[in-house]
Amino acid sequence: MTETSPALDQRHVPADLPTRIQHYIDGEFVDSVDGDTFDVLEPVSNEVYVQAAAGKKADIDLAVAAATRAFTEGPWPRMLPRERSRILHRIADLVELRDARLAELESFDSGLPITQALGQARRAAENFRFFADLIVAQADDTFKVPGRQINYVNRKPIGVAGLITPWNTPFMLESWKLGPALASGNTAVLKPAEFTPLSASLWAGIFEEAGLPKGVFNLVNGLGEDAGDALVKHPDVPLISFTGESRTGQIIFGNAAPFLKGLSMELGGKSPAVVFADADLEAAVDATIFGVFSLNGERCTAGSRILVQRDVYDEFVERYAAQAKRVKVGYPHDPATEVGALVHPEHFDKVMGYVEIGKSEGRLVAGGGQPEGFEFGNFVAPTVFADVPADARIFQEEIFGPVVAITPFDTDEEALALANDTKYGLAAYIWTNDLKRAHNFSQAVQAGMVWLNSNNVRDLRTPFGGVKASGLGHEGGYRSIDFYTDQQAVHITLGDVHNPTFGKH
Ligand code: NAD
Repeated sequence: MTETSPALDQRHVPADLPTRIQHYIDGEFVDSVDGDTFDVLEPVSNEVYVQAAAGKKADIDLAVAAATRAFTEGPWPRMLPRERSRILHRIADLVELRDARLAELESFDSGLPITQALGQARRAAENFRFFADLIVAQADDTFKVPGRQINYVNRKPIGVAGLITPWNTPFMLESWKLGPALASGNTAVLKPAEFTPLSASLWAGIFEEAGLPKGVFNLVNGLGEDAGDALVKHPDVPLISFTGESRTGQIIFGNAAPFLKGLSMELGGKSPAVVFADADLEAAVDATIFGVFSLNGERCTAGSRILVQRDVYDEFVERYAAQAKRVKVGYPHDPATEVGALVHPEHFDKVMGYVEIGKSEGRLVAGGGQPEGFEFGNFVAPTVFADVPADARIFQEEIFGPVVAITPFDTDEEALALANDTKYGLAAYIWTNDLKRAHNFSQAVQAGMVWLNSNNVRDLRTPFGGVKASGLGHEGGYRSIDFYTDQQAVHITLGDVHNPTFGKH
C-alpha cells in the first residue's frame, strides 16, 4: 500500500453511505451475536469507510434456522412457478430502476470503473429476468412406454442453498446464484466477500419491496474462515454454490465431503488467448486488451496468457504494448476510466509482487508499477510482459490484476501444448481465420469455455464453468436449475402389474 495523496480530493464518495453494514436474517437487519465487526476499506484511499458485522457460527446458525423455517413452513417453495416468476421479474425491475445507485456503490466499494459497474448491475437484473422466464418455460421430462408405463420427473427445490461469493463484480455474481436458487423454490443464505460487502445488503430492500417472503433470503457478512466455514459445515445446508479461488474451493470440497453436499464450484483461471498469424490482428489486439484489462483484470475468464504465432509476434507485441499504455487508468467514478483501483491493499500487494517477479521472468514492455498521477491507493498500470517462458510464475499462476504475459509459438501443436500447460481450464480465446484450425483447436484445448474470434460475450442459456482446477460442474441456463433442484423420477405402471413371483413357488 502506498501513501495517501492530495489527489484523493478528487475521489467521489457516494452520498448516504450506510454508517454500518449488518446481517439480514429472517427479514431483519441485525448485528453479530457477539457484536464483532471488521473494517471495510475504500480502494482509492484505503481508508476505512464503514464497519461490517463479522458473522460467525452463531450468526450462520440463526440464518440457516430462518431459511429452514421459510423452506419447511413458508409459501415460497409451494408457489406455482409463475407466481415466483412474477416476484423475480419485480426484483429485476427494481435492480434496473436502481442501477445507477448500485453501480455508484459497487464502484466505490470495489474500485471498478463506473461504466463497467453499471454494466454488471444491468447484467444482475438480466440474470433474475432470465431465471424468472426459464422457471415458467421449463417442461419437465415425461417418458411414455405405450400401454405399459409412464415415467415422469418431479423437480423439487432442495432446501437451504449456501451461496459464497467473491469480491470481483460482487452484486452480479450474487445474482448469478440467487436468481436460479430462488427461482427453483429454495431459500438461501448468502455469505458475500468480506472485501466488498456494501452492495449485498441492497438485496434485502429490493427483495422486500418485490414481495419475497420473509426468511427466504438471508445474508451473513464475515470472514471466509468464520462465516463461510460455518455455512459449509452446517448440516442443514444441503447445497453449496461457491465462486472464488481454487485453493478455497479445495478447502470447501473437503469440509463439505462428510455431509456429501451438492457442490458447484466456479474457481480460478489462467486462460490462454491464442493468436495465429492468419488472424485479424487489429481485432485480436483490441479483444485481448479488453480481455485482460477490463474489470481491472479482476476477471476469472481474463485472457492473461497471450500466445502469438512467431510470424506476427513482434508486430503484435509492439501494437499491444502501445495500446496498453493508452488504456486510461483513473478514478473509478470517472466515466472515461477504463481501469480503476484494485479492490484491497492485500490484493494490490499480491499483484505488485507478481509485477516484480515478472521483471526477472519476462521483458517488460508496458506498465510495471503505479501509473503516473495515481501513485496512491491500489492503482496499477496495465502491465505487459513479453517473451515469457512457460515455466515462469507469471505464466502459470493467477494474478487477477491488469498484468499479462505474452509468449511466442511456431506450430499449432506448440500453441496447444502451451495453452494446456496450466493447472487451470476456465476459458480459451482463439484468433484465426482458418475454420478447420479454429474448430480443431477448440476440441483439443482444455477449457470449459472457448471464444472464437470473439471477446467475452455469452448468452445466458449456455453453460458456464471450468475444467481442471477451474471448477466443478456447470451453471447457466437449465444447468443452474438442475443444480438447485432434486429430479425425482416417478414410475407408474398402466394396466396390469407384472410382478416378479418371488416367494410364490
Ligand atoms: P476467495 O476464495 O478468497 O473468497 C471467495 C469467498 O469464499 C469469500 O466470500 C470468502 O470469504 C469465502 N471463503 C474464504 N475461505 C473460506 C472457507 N474456508 N470456507 C468458506 N468460505 C470461504 O476468492 P476471492 O479472492 O474473493 O475471489 C477471486 C477468485 O475468484 C479468483 O481466483 C477468481 O478467478 C475466482 N472467480 C471465479 C469465477 C468463475 O466463475 N470461475 C468468477 C469470479 C471469480
